[in-house]
Amino acid sequence: MDLSNRQTIRELLSRHGFTFRKQLGQNFLIDPTVCPRMAESGVTGPDCGVLEIGPGIGVLTVQLAARAQKVCAVELDRRLLPVLAETLQPFQNVHVVQGDVLKLDLPALLQQEFAGMHIAVCANLPYYITSPVIMKLLEEKLPIEFLTVMVQKEAAERLCAAPGTRACGAVSAAVWYYAEPKLLFPVGRGSFLPSPKVDSAVIQLRVRKAPPVQLRDETFFFRVVRAAFGQRRKAAANAVSAGLSLPKATVQAALKQIDAPASVRAERLTLEQLAALSNLLYPAAF
Ligand code: SAM
Repeated sequence: MDLSNRQTIRELLSRHGFTFRKQLGQNFLIDPTVCPRMAESGVTGPDCGVLEIGPGIGVLTVQLAARAQKVCAVELDRRLLPVLAETLQPFQNVHVVQGDVLKLDLPALLQQEFAGMHIAVCANLPYYITSPVIMKLLEEKLPIEFLTVMVQKEAAERLCAAPGTRACGAVSAAVWYYAEPKLLFPVGRGSFLPSPKVDSAVIQLRVRKAPPVQLRDETFFFRVVRAAFGQRRKAAANAVSAGLSLPKATVQAALKQIDAPASVRAERLTLEQLAALSNLLYPAAF
């Protein structure tokens, strides 16, 4: 079955009485070049277990199944289960799990599905939960080696922005702490059915085996990062002092120690500087 063909998709969906739910981010890929390309980048080898989030009608799933040892696809919308049963019928190495990826016990799921395999995530993510899903996958310190995901173009730029560069935000700093991100390729809005209002891009995060910076306290580091980027127009000294209820002079002294100008904004600070700042402020905060 050609799952990139509009007519085939329409017939399949109408046979199952399926109508799109915008609030679930249901824009299905119809460009026949995108899924093979994503699967080629996302499946690290024949011994790879792939977690897919939101398989939709299975257009990417079939490409993953053809390359990976096993695919576990988590789909929230129960109405898609009979559709997937039909489209994935030729594949013995796919397990569809109905559920909300944000609520699932992922450590248990990965252990159950992929024992002994290299694990990767490959998905065209539902756009309304892009950052929460990526942060859950990174923060839970799961045994995942790569995340290859399609996200909105602006989100892709933000997620891949290196600390110390203009586009960097709190989420970019968090991504850089856990992974090495890379923009793979753009995908135009016309590649989807229905067509969304914005373009997309595929990014890949190689999950780090060890953190790139030494922290006294990881939770406190993320509090500093959130405070620093929380008020983007403010100088980092003001934003951190307000966000963490610390005297401004304490934050200014710490900034001086890491060789940052007193008026520096968070986006100008490198990951090493953000880490050093949080390490210096840690004793003052408790
Ligand atoms: N992979 C398909 C494709 O590329 O055509 C569909 C991608 S579509 C952008 C996002 C999919 O995620 C939809 O099938 C939607 O039902 C599903 N979804 C939405 N929220 C979800 C959640 N919280 N957990 C799991 N799947 C979800």
